[in-house]
Amino acid sequence: AAALRERAVCVAGLGVSGPPVVRALLARGARVSVVDAREDEGTLGLARELRAEGARVLLGGHALPPETDLVVTSPGWRPDAPLLAQAAAGGVEIVGDVELAWRLRPAGQRWLAITGTNGKTTTVRMLEAMLRADGRDALAVGNVGTPIMEAALPGGSRPAPELLAVELSSFQLHWSATLAPHAAAVLNVAPDHLDWHGGLEAYAAAKGRIYARGTLRVANADDAWSAHLARTCGDPAAPLYGFTLATPRAGQIGVVEDLLVDRAFAADPRGGAVELASLADVVPAAPHNVANALAAAALARSAGAAPESVRAGLAAFAPEPHRMAQLGSVGGVDYVDDSKATNPHAAAAALASFASVVWVAGGLLKGAEVEDLVREAAPRLRAAVLLGRDRDRLRAALARHAPDTAVVEVETAGEGAMEEAVRAAAGLARPGDTVLLAPAAASMDMFTDYKERGRRFAAAVAARG
Ligand code: ADP
Repeated sequence: AAALRERAVCVAGLGVSGPPVVRALLARGARVSVVDAREDEGTLGLARELRAEGARVLLGGHALPPETDLVVTSPGWRPDAPLLAQAAAGGVEIVGDVELAWRLRPAGQRWLAITGTNGKTTTVRMLEAMLRADGRDALAVGNVGTPIMEAALPGGSRPAPELLAVELSSFQLHWSATLAPHAAAVLNVAPDHLDWHGGLEAYAAAKGRIYARGTLRVANADDAWSAHLARTCGDPAAPLYGFTLATPRAGQIGVVEDLLVDRAFAADPRGGAVELASLADVVPAAPHNVANALAAAALARSAGAAPESVRAGLAAFAPEPHRMAQLGSVGGVDYVDDSKATNPHAAAAALASFASVVWVAGGLLKGAEVEDLVREAAPRLRAAVLLGRDRDRLRAALARHAPDTAVVEVETAGEGAMEEAVRAAAGLARPGDTVLLAPAAASMDMFTDYKERGRRFAAAVAARG
């Protein structure tokens, strides 16, 4: 904290992570400027509040304030954003909100960190549930719930949590130079955000940084990238454990018949096995979600949680909305909202969970390929309903790999597009089918975010029921 007193810190971006960062810096005596290009109502209101608290707020601009000592960037800003490029060129240190929270964390607090293309939110919530079932003071932070800056430095009477289950995006890892969690897992790596990172190698390398600096490594033995990053980016002296949907070897947590079994953290050093939970304890029971449960179990066990706490945590866990949410059935057709499937890898996991699907997809593909996704999904597709900006890429892939599948395109981009999509999907579905919203794409071309997209889908389904 002493290191921040009187330092001139520039906070880049007033998004979700910005205000708690500004407040933490002001509380430590830093001189804080905030820069954001936006000037909408919400931003102006926030600016007024932060000015009253002592920050300088510069809206409508992109320039680095002169004499800045340190930049704390919003994780979504690309490294080539003018302000960041200017800082880098001038030798000014740039950190993200996670790195700042790490540097300011209370003594003795341990972090268990999770990254991956998909499953982060689900896994940190499962991990939090397991640790709490074990009687520990643990808190999940990330996309859903408390911003990390608030969690790492709670004000007032609440003591800082002993353990943080931290969800980390590739952007946040890119800006975290000294982060050294107690234990970490890369769940999986598949193409996403390639436009931001400039390619799969750079995206994967950002994720691999989670293992650096002495961190106990948990790798997905079924995911080539995860295993590779744990070996090459981690500290070779740090313990390495795996998780797998197959029968676990010594040093792994895995699945034997219908049980989750620990051969990594079991007391018997020769690799004795300990039962953790049943497959039936994992909700929803899709394979990708069992993998999430195994990763959470490995991290919980690495922090000393008892085997029974894994089962109790899974029982207490409730899935977040818009992640394979069952909306009920209308006329013998099931409707499922997986609006959070914002990339092809997530959509593939959702599609693999149903036998006969009317697939509602499309949006912003962020540079991702859809060939493999469509080829693998083809045998399960009754029909596809496409919407959003990059839908022609999906249509072209469907024409190549599923030429007999009926495809309907929703031309409307505004109000009513999702209603039209659901109407078309209902018309194509037969009893026993699942109408699945799993867009494989981001939503911002048509919706505020994936939540609004999912809510509109659910509302359109409810209107039919
Ligand atoms: P994240 O926080 O990484 O976005 P979520 O838990 O919110 O992860 O899930 C995002 C999407 O990915 C959801 O659509 C979900 O159904 C899907 N998903 C969850 N876990 C996995 C996994 N291990 N592999 C592939 N897809 C997954």
